[in-house]
Amino acid sequence: PLILSDRINAMQESQTIAMAKKARALAAEGVDVISLSFGEPDFQTPQYIKDAAKQALDDGYTFYTPVPGYLELRQAICDKFERDNQLSYKPENIVVSTGAKQALANAVLSLVNPGDEVVVFAPYWVSYEEMVRLAEGISVPLLGAMENNFKVTAAQLEAAITPRTKLLMYSSPCNPTGAVFNRDELAAIAEVLLRHPHVYVLADEIYEYINFVGEHVSLAQFDAIKDRVITVNGFSKGYAMTGWRVGYLAAQREIAAACEKIQSQITSGTCSIAQRASIAALEGGRASADEMVAAYRRRRDMVLELAADIPGFRTNVPSGAFYLFPDVSGYFGRSTPAGETISSAADLAMYLLNEAHVAAVDGAAFGAPDCIRFSTAAADDKLREAFVRIKDALAKLK
Ligand code: PLP
Repeated sequence: PLILSDRINAMQESQTIAMAKKARALAAEGVDVISLSFGEPDFQTPQYIKDAAKQALDDGYTFYTPVPGYLELRQAICDKFERDNQLSYKPENIVVSTGAKQALANAVLSLVNPGDEVVVFAPYWVSYEEMVRLAEGISVPLLGAMENNFKVTAAQLEAAITPRTKLLMYSSPCNPTGAVFNRDELAAIAEVLLRHPHVYVLADEIYEYINFVGEHVSLAQFDAIKDRVITVNGFSKGYAMTGWRVGYLAAQREIAAACEKIQSQITSGTCSIAQRASIAALEGGRASADEMVAAYRRRRDMVLELAADIPGFRTNVPSGAFYLFPDVSGYFGRSTPAGETISSAADLAMYLLNEAHVAAVDGAAFGAPDCIRFSTAAADDKLREAFVRIKDALAKLK
């Protein structure tokens, strides 16, 4: 019989991908499913980026690429850090990967030893926990309070750090809560880290451009800890390039070299054509993102209004990204028309899929078992229809 590794047996399938699969299966049966489970912009990649990809093919960019990415792309990323984040890096500090996801995995595998503790600000992005598990680290989730926009405080961090803590991981703007750390909050976190020089940080800034409050602050801007901060970013969200698979990290040389080493053995440099297109994307600045952000902001306002009309949904106001993350614990203990009890957010998400034909994701996957996550990166009329259906389905719970 086939015996799979303990490593893979211990790993959970991504809940967002699992829910998207179920929604697709229902849709294949002819059910009109509105899928709000996936964190994917509904916009096409801007035309100028597509043109650059076509040009790259015609120019013969069909060969293996340097493992950490084309030098020109790494230079363009350095220019971006300088322009947007007032951060100075050299190409040797940059590793381009197959999505921000690989950049995160490279960093975790480069830093975490078996038994090392990794503090993860919760609600967190689904894959953080599994990456830590893969590295045989111990994840230490710290849950932020909804009243504080789900943001973990410096005091919470201070209390969680032990001599075994190796890494802190968080995203800002946050998937799933849309929370954005401001300068004061990050300054307080930087101060804690200054007292604990054995702790490194993986700052996931993939939603940088999708920010409704304005200022994006990078933890690496706090000079005294810059060497211990690894900043992750990419093209999937800001440039609507999810399928192209390009992300990157910036880190001190030794860490960047370690990430390059892992990547050289597992995937090599990411796709040549996608990298050439990414250079063009950065040359275009953030104008195309700003157009998309206007739509995301309009949708956020719309879904907040629709959600406010649903009894039992408690939400924060997302400052960025494209998700709504209501606390739905008020429904726990209620019964469906079929007589089943809703005892968790997973039950509620399943009920909404079957009854309202709206796919959402159980908050437990994000370390917040009282919540469910809706992606708001869908067309306005779909979102409106989804929330009408959700409201009707929830009204049927007794
Ligand atoms: N980090 C966060 C917080 C995300 O939400 C996502 C995608 O959903 C990623 C990283 C991965 O992005 P990429 O498509 O660049 O791998």
